[in-house]
Amino acid sequence: MQSVTLNNGVQMPILGFGVYQIPAADTERAVSEAIAAGYRLLDTAAAYGNEEAVGRAIKSSGIPREDLFVTTKLFVQDAPAEETTKRALETSLNKLGLDHLDLYLMHQPFGDVYGQWRAMEAAHREGLTRAIGVSNFYPDRLLDLTINNEITPQVNQIETHPFFQRADYHELMAEHGVQIMSWGGFAEGKNGMFTNPVLARIGKEYDKSVAQVVLRWLTQRGVVAIPKSVRAERMAENLDVFDFELTDEQMAEISTLDTGASLFFDHHDPEIVKWLAARRLDA
Ligand code: NAP
Repeated sequence: MQSVTLNNGVQMPILGFGVYQIPAADTERAVSEAIAAGYRLLDTAAAYGNEEAVGRAIKSSGIPREDLFVTTKLFVQDAPAEETTKRALETSLNKLGLDHLDLYLMHQPFGDVYGQWRAMEAAHREGLTRAIGVSNFYPDRLLDLTINNEITPQVNQIETHPFFQRADYHELMAEHGVQIMSWGGFAEGKNGMFTNPVLARIGKEYDKSVAQVVLRWLTQRGVVAIPKSVRAERMAENLDVFDFELTDEQMAEISTLDTGASLFFDHHDPEIVKWLAARRLDA
């Protein structure tokens, strides 16, 4: 598996397995199958409600801890953020059955972001997580956080896929040493992703599926991808993307699919901010 090197020297696999929207009752099986297929990077979150099941699958896999890269996320915390963030991390570690994480992400750019970040920096210094980062931060938020704190986030996990490519933002993050990680790499199939004619035609040239073309396109540009699937055959398909290379012309053709807009939600929309604030009670 290819890896990327984060700004603190930590190595992270470029392709992993995401578990959003996998019901807790199905997660242990899915993660066990994903690990058996060869995935070593796992991406969960306190808000997904399936950390315990991920932990059981990790335990029963028999894979040495140092060979896995486990990511989870902090949801928006109540004040005082230093205390509640520490407790939230302890809860996640207990649920996962781990003594440290590989990457802890602040899930949303809301609440007492700076208090939460300082607590994450402290957890990093204590060795409770090998890397820290953020998610869903737009450029203004990311730069302000970076400029005004000690540790530059190692990762920013954002919506990015062929229909919302964010190439300028990708460049800005690279300039500041922040690794881009894609969520919703398939846009959850929205907008006809899996039948898109451009992606399908390019795939045909290599005997690859649309899903494989998308993952190849992401990873070839240095983007960490974490496709989700509950089906073992798709888990294997989604890992099989390192035996072909897209040409410059094909990369350019895929860049024309960009609509420049989110297919999910805009974090600047007041209704979304209110909705996420209300969710903090369950996460
Ligand atoms: P996604 O990976 O873009 O798409 C998942 C969908 O694609 C599922 O419906 C899956 O169906 C289908 N699929 C998977 N492989 C396929 C294949 N080879 N061919 C055809 N269909 C395929 O969606 P996502 O789960 O939203 O995003 C990926 C991960 O990103 C999440 O699991 C989570 O870890 C993370 N995420 C983070 C945030 C955040 O705010 N930070 C938000 C969303 C997601 P089946 O399961 O039936 O195969």
